[in-house]
Amino acid sequence: MTFLYKADPIRGAEWAELFARKMPELPFRIWPDVGDPRDVRYLAAWQPPEDLATRFPNLEVLFSTGAGTDQFDFSMIPATLPVVRMVESGIIGGMVEYVTLAVLSLHREWRTYLDQQREQNWKVHRVQTASSRRVGVLGLGVLARAVLESLNGFGFSCAGWSRSPQQIEDVECHAGADGLQQFLARTDILICLLPLTEGTRGILSNTLFDKLPRGAAVINVGRGGHLVQEDLLQALDEGQLSSAILDVCEPEPLPQDHPFWTHPKVMLTPHIASMTQPESAVEAMIDNLCRHQVGLPMIGLVDRARGY
Ligand code: NDP
Repeated sequence: MTFLYKADPIRGAEWAELFARKMPELPFRIWPDVGDPRDVRYLAAWQPPEDLATRFPNLEVLFSTGAGTDQFDFSMIPATLPVVRMVESGIIGGMVEYVTLAVLSLHREWRTYLDQQREQNWKVHRVQTASSRRVGVLGLGVLARAVLESLNGFGFSCAGWSRSPQQIEDVECHAGADGLQQFLARTDILICLLPLTEGTRGILSNTLFDKLPRGAAVINVGRGGHLVQEDLLQALDEGQLSSAILDVCEPEPLPQDHPFWTHPKVMLTPHIASMTQPESAVEAMIDNLCRHQVGLPMIGLVDRARGY
């Protein structure tokens, strides 16, 4: 019985060392050193091999090394093979830091003050209270909930939107197509923390931007495919949106001549909002292996019909 790792080899070496310490009874291999393919029971991959179904006949679980599975081609993955995404405290903590920083920088007008400093301009703008700033998160999953808890701590007026109705303390929850309009109409700072699926691709478009209050700001930490880039540029240039903070884009990296690089109202980061952290990821992985071995549901099991 082998655990096979197929992602960044440097992090793989860290995983190998952690597995050797925490689960020494399970042989751990790093791609392409697969050993006997019939022994491979668990595969943790950013991108599984195309011949997965035939290459590893005894595979029991496919784990994504990232929080999403949109990079997987599900048509290549046997329908009965459980697919599990990464849910671990390191990813959650990183996302909370990034989104809190992004929201606070918009709330406290950081970019304006940076521009003013360059112009040697000592100019005070009235500070708005956090409670008067309406923050809204698209998605109410593991990451969104942690982010909302942090933002609630500052006193922001918080709301979220999901596919199915949810209830979260101190968060105004909206759901489905019917709830979207009301959610957007009350949102000054919009954060996208959705998975990328057929139902969410291109959701950040003019149709959505037009329903936000004029001058709203957008933070995209979901996936680049959520955003219609031309629509964002148009909304920024026409003043419907005031700012965009983008951690993800399509493609990654953007071409050198892409307008986002130099747009005065766009801040770009290279998909670093949060990262899988080896120590906590291996702990979560081992917890899931133990669950699987005793027949308990694994944390982060993907519902293939829903797409996330
Ligand atoms: P979850 O699966 O826990 O949550 C997904 C949420 O999105 C759920 O609330 C779900 O609704 C909602 N949702 C899904 N489809 C729709 C839809 N069509 N309409 C409305 N709501 C919908 O995901 P996580 O919170 O763990 O992660 C979210 C995403 O964040 C990941 O898929 C990944 O793309 C991105 N990410 C980005 C990172 C970065 O560094 N930039 C790092 C980690 C993740 P419901 O509650 O009804 O199921």
